[in-house]
Amino acid sequence: MYLAPYTMHHCNAELFFVFLRKTQMMRIDIITVLPELLESPLNHSIVKRAKEKGLVEINIINLRDYTTDKYKSVDDYAFGGGAGMVLMIEPVYKAIEKLKSERDYDEIIYTSPDGVKFNQKMANQLSMKNNVLILAGHYKGVDQRIRDYLITKEISIGDYVLSGGELPAAAITDAIVRLIPGVISDEQSALSDSFQDDLLAPPVFTRPSDFRGWKVPDILLSGNTGEIENWRHEQSLERTKRLRPNLANDE
Ligand code: SAH
Repeated sequence: MYLAPYTMHHCNAELFFVFLRKTQMMRIDIITVLPELLESPLNHSIVKRAKEKGLVEINIINLRDYTTDKYKSVDDYAFGGGAGMVLMIEPVYKAIEKLKSERDYDEIIYTSPDGVKFNQKMANQLSMKNNVLILAGHYKGVDQRIRDYLITKEISIGDYVLSGGELPAAAITDAIVRLIPGVISDEQSALSDSFQDDLLAPPVFTRPSDFRGWKVPDILLSGNTGEIENWRHEQSLERTKRLRPNLANDE
């Protein structure tokens, strides 16, 4: 694999390892009460191509397939009262146990606003796993005992509350999949994205070079690869310092 000098000083050791590792196909299973919400985000663009190339298998599991009553109930009132329903323990337990009986999971993730905040470092680490299971919460959340006994990692995608864990599961899956070796044909493209090596990406431009007097920086038209790489690196440093001065220390 050829790595340009630009990439070398931009990529961190962790991601470098991701790109060198030999892989078996990664599998991501997502348990949800709303499979429809996951279909579109995971069936386009890079994620779609990764599936077609056989680099990842993504399975959406409908929690209602694991219900026992004729109404296919997945939620019930909260003990102690209060507004909002709770995802019941039984169908979730049955779904997770069935999946666990078929393979070993490296992580069983629950999406939750009180989880650890998701970032690129976590995406890098998860992209090195073989089997990942994600439980998307809904309503007021899932019965706490599922979290206590079966979940290995709790992830939040930010300090705001969504209606369900489907969009977070899709966001986490997308971030992981684009890091799997071979998914993005030009490896540098993922390596030089924001947050790798604690830097924001430099600005990008395309034709026309002059749009109503709004000009592209001359350096990018110079054809001088070395100078362009230096300029991009400087831009990365400047942007990071200005927009995210504490990026390297942020959790
Ligand atoms: N009562 C919960 C929020 C429930 S929102 C609380 O106050 O913490 C319903 C579901 O959406 C959650 O169970 C979780 O799976 C998902 N969800 C909502 N916001 C999320 C976020 N920021 N990150 C990850 N998952 C989230």
